[in-house]
Amino acid sequence: MHLRRSLIQRDEDVLWHPFSHHSLEPARMAIKRGEGTWLVTEDGRHLLDAVSSWWVNLHGHSNRYIAEAIAEQANKLEHCIFAGFTHEPAIELSELVLEALPPNQKKIFFSDNGSTAVEVALKMAIQADLIRTKGESKRKTIIALEGGYHGDTFGAMSVSGRGAFTAPFFDYLFDVKHLPIPTVENCSQLCHALEAYCKDGSVLAFIYEPLVQGAGGMNMYRAEELNTLLSIAKRYGVICIADEVMTGFGRTEALFASSLLEIQPDIMCLSKGITGGFLPLGATSCTQEIYESFEHPDRQTFFFHGHSYAGNPLACAAGIASIKLLQSSHCTQQRASIMKSHQQAIESFRNAPGIGGVRSQGTIFALDIETAQATNYQNPLRDRLYSFFLERGLLIRPLGNVLYLMPPYCITPNELTLCYDALLDAGRHFSSDNSTY
Ligand code: PMP
Repeated sequence: MHLRRSLIQRDEDVLWHPFSHHSLEPARMAIKRGEGTWLVTEDGRHLLDAVSSWWVNLHGHSNRYIAEAIAEQANKLEHCIFAGFTHEPAIELSELVLEALPPNQKKIFFSDNGSTAVEVALKMAIQADLIRTKGESKRKTIIALEGGYHGDTFGAMSVSGRGAFTAPFFDYLFDVKHLPIPTVENCSQLCHALEAYCKDGSVLAFIYEPLVQGAGGMNMYRAEELNTLLSIAKRYGVICIADEVMTGFGRTEALFASSLLEIQPDIMCLSKGITGGFLPLGATSCTQEIYESFEHPDRQTFFFHGHSYAGNPLACAAGIASIKLLQSSHCTQQRASIMKSHQQAIESFRNAPGIGGVRSQGTIFALDIETAQATNYQNPLRDRLYSFFLERGLLIRPLGNVLYLMPPYCITPNELTLCYDALLDAGRHFSSDNSTY
């Protein structure tokens, strides 16, 4: 007799999952379908996806409008080489994205994901400077922020903070000067440090996640101090790179966090929400000035970068549909009501047991579960918190002892209440047996 094996059994035979410790973590869950904010497992359990499946989903799972746009495009043109050729989906998506970005962004370069959007940005900055200086550039230093996370490829890891994610690769990463995230208290000290680095003309670029550092622990910081640092960088001609892979497409109070700042970046990295969470796509935008650095009669000055799936028409069709939904009045109202709900919730969390550091920026809500251990990704509470939420039907994937909500914008007030209640419960539950931690 042929025994039907479950998806999990078949998965265990053949698959290796990202950021997963297969022998220590709870068994994987097989997802059969997605409906709005919910994921439905093989055995019929419903899980509320409060983290938008690694921050990519904007309008809910299996959104019909986006699904139909992809299907329609698939019947016309699935893909074609993007060097020497172009197509309407790539053009239209670029037009729509550029209209929504800060007005100094003029060109889009497509790749496949967030890490490649960052690699492209770094290579663009390095090569633009070399061309401008006819290969004589003395600018080699890149400034980044401590606790930053920019992806898993080598350039992206190099500019990320030095921590758990990059530790095994330290010896292979290029050197970067890290500054702490700016605060009211440390700002003048940071300004001195940045000036000191910039003074001899050796700083090439400054990369930052504007206003919220995601994987580093949902660290939120103010526009004022970041503006101050950016204005120093600009004064020395440093190329400023905003990594908006996470913050882009409405996660903060504006469509892009950079729009909440006075000083605009020269280059921006986009991915995740760009397709509404349907297909992988990376995009790096830049100013006309950066683009024109490469307009040079010498053949050796074209940008040495390109991916097989660059500008994939299906991903672009998803992107067009998603950005249209994002700019609809319904979605704009939804984001406003999520923001308001988070701000109101902050009050009820202020003195909640076991909970500290409650914060929100736009549609992101975060807090720390109080623990005697260090607040970081390896905090031992992490696995227990993760299981605690799964058992209650919620997908909330902790960053160590940091918990956050970054829901799809279609989430309802009742679903948000479920999330807040579960977070409050977690505070109570884990503070009562805090002695173990
Ligand atoms: N930059 C930021 C700010 C991110 O949050 C991430 C992913 N979490 C990346 C880059 C890398 O994106 P990807 O996982 O798509 O390579």
